[in-house]
Amino acid sequence: MLRIVSYPHPALRYESRPVLEIDDAFRATVREMFKLMYAARGIGLAANQVALPFRFFVLNLTADAEQPDQEQVFINPEIVKRHSSVEDEEGCLSLPGLYANVRRAKKIRVRAYDLEGTPIERDVDDLLSRAIQHETDHLHGKLFIDMLEPLVLHGFSERLRGYELDYRQGQTQGLIPANDELLARLQRLPRPTPEGIFTEPGDNTS
Ligand code: ZN
Repeated sequence: MLRIVSYPHPALRYESRPVLEIDDAFRATVREMFKLMYAARGIGLAANQVALPFRFFVLNLTADAEQPDQEQVFINPEIVKRHSSVEDEEGCLSLPGLYANVRRAKKIRVRAYDLEGTPIERDVDDLLSRAIQHETDHLHGKLFIDMLEPLVLHGFSERLRGYELDYRQGQTQGLIPANDELLARLQRLPRPTPEGIFTEPGDNTS
């Protein structure tokens, strides 16, 4: 079973590996990620956020499970063009409750594979562009707080310290494995599966 992990889980700082095969296990993983995303009322979820070190993410800009026709899956995505920039508010399911303005490219060209394994190349703008950039950053171990001006980031330092304290407390209580163990699990996971790295009882890393 997958879970959404929160900052500062090491999976969020992990450079993900390419997806090599779209099989039943992969499709089941995607399904599970959509379920978690809807339950958390998000519009996007990257594999890193469920501690899967692979290059893909799911999106549904409506955040509505009743609109599955709006679901999009981007596999091994690459942003190949960026045009002009715009600032808007962002949040992240791995940094719950934290929102800040982030400047990003207004228009992008993205290349990826869809769930059928078909190569796609699309020019997108506005919210879709922003969401794709945010999720692609996740696959490179980057969070939106990395893009904030130091002064703005400093304003969130208490909240970030709160996340860090919760996380360390979880590790002290044995609810979250040590970071070395988590990194070892991320490294040896051969492919995306709906079980992910959460193999042990009580292994709650969120
Ligand atoms: Zn995010």
